Amino acid sequence: MTAKRKDDSLSDYRHKRDFRKTAEPAGGAEPRAAIRKRRKRAAATKRSGLRFVIQKHQATSLHFDLRLEAGGVLKSWAVPKGLSLDPANKRLAMEVEDHPLEYGEFEGTIPKDEYGGGTVMIWDRGTYFADEAAGAIDDDAEIRREHEQGKISFFLEGERLRGSFALVRTDRGPKPKWLVIKHRDEHVSRDHDPVDECDTSVVTGRTMAEIAREESENELARESIAPMRAEKAKTLPAGRDWVYEELRDGTRVFAYITPGSRALVAEDGSTNRRFDAIADELGALADRAGRGFVLDGVVTHMPSSGLAYVVSDIVYDDGDVVLDEPWTDRRARIESLFRRRRVPRVRLAEVRRRAGPALEKHARSKGWVGIVAKRAGSPYRPGQHSSDWRRVGCS
Ligand code: MN
Repeated sequence: MTAKRKDDSLSDYRHKRDFRKTAEPAGGAEPRAAIRKRRKRAAATKRSGLRFVIQKHQATSLHFDLRLEAGGVLKSWAVPKGLSLDPANKRLAMEVEDHPLEYGEFEGTIPKDEYGGGTVMIWDRGTYFADEAAGAIDDDAEIRREHEQGKISFFLEGERLRGSFALVRTDRGPKPKWLVIKHRDEHVSRDHDPVDECDTSVVTGRTMAEIAREESENELARESIAPMRAEKAKTLPAGRDWVYEELRDGTRVFAYITPGSRALVAEDGSTNRRFDAIADELGALADRAGRGFVLDGVVTHMPSSGLAYVVSDIVYDDGDVVLDEPWTDRRARIESLFRRRRVPRVRLAEVRRRAGPALEKHARSKGWVGIVAKRAGSPYRPGQHSSDWRRVGCS
C-alpha cells in the first residue's frame, strides 16, 4: 500500500480531531524504517506479527474498540459489549474510521468537548493472524481482501483473549455494521467472560477511574494554572445573576492538594515556608474527605488570627477539572468540601447576594480591600481578564 493511500485512509480520523486539544496521536509518526524492521522480524518468525489492540472507551457510552492492523493503519470497530468467548454471543461491531498505528499505544483521556471525549484504557493487545493465510500468503494482504469482502477470520494472541474469531459484515453503507463471533476452537469458554472479569489496563494495571484521575492531575501539574482576573470597575454591576465576594489584601495562591502534591504556589510560581502550616491542614482535609482538589485563594494576614488562606474558587475536584462549570456549582463544591470539617487556617471567602450601600458598609467594617462581583453562571477562565468578574476597591 502506498503512502498516499494510507494518508487518505486516515483523513477521516484527522478530520474529526483537533490535535492541539487532544493527546491522541495524529498518525504518521512511526518511521517507515521501523515498520520495515518490524515486518522483517515477523517474517523471520514465519507468521505476520500484525498487531491488534482492544481499547475500553468510556465516551458518551461505554464500548470496546477493536483495532486490527492492516495496510499500515488500524481497521477499527466499536463493540458496545466487547468480545465474548462464547460462540453463541454474536456481538455488534460498528466499523469506524481507520486509526493510525500509534493509536494502539494510546491510553489516557480525551478532553470532554472533543470527538470521543472520555477515558481510554488499553484493555488487551497482542498479535493476530489471518486464519486463512497459510504459509506463503501474507496475512496483511489476506486481511485486506477479507475486509473488502465483508468476512474476516482471524486468530488473536492477546494477553486476555486468545483464539479464532470472525467478523461478518451485515450492513454496508457509510457506517457499516458487523458481528464479531467466537469460532469454535479450544479457546471457547461459556462460563468465563473476560469483559466482566477484567477491569484494568493490561499495560498500566489502572482502572478507568484511576486513568481519569491521574490524567487530570497530570494535566494540572504540567501547566500550573494561571489565575483568572477581575476587570477593574467604577461601580458594581447589579442584578440577580451577580454575586459579591470578599477581596483580601495578600498573595494570590493556588493550593494543589492531590495524592501527588501538597503545595501552595503563588502566582509567580514561588512557594513559601510560611504557607506550610496551611498546606498541612489542607492535606489533612484531603485525607479525611478522600479527594484531591486545587483551590484558588489569597493568603492574607488576619489581625486576629495571623496568616490565613481565604478560598474563593476551585478548579479541580476529585478527579475532574471543573473550569467549565458555572461559578455556583464550583462554589457548592467548595462548601461541601469544607462542611463540618475544621480547618483553622482556612476559610471560604464571604459571598453576598446584593450590591448597595449595606454591602459597602459591611465590606469596610470587615476590612476587605475590595469587592469582586462575579457572574453566577460564569466559567473559570485561567489567565484571563474577564468581564464576568469585576473588582471595585473599598475606600
Ligand atoms: Mn471509541
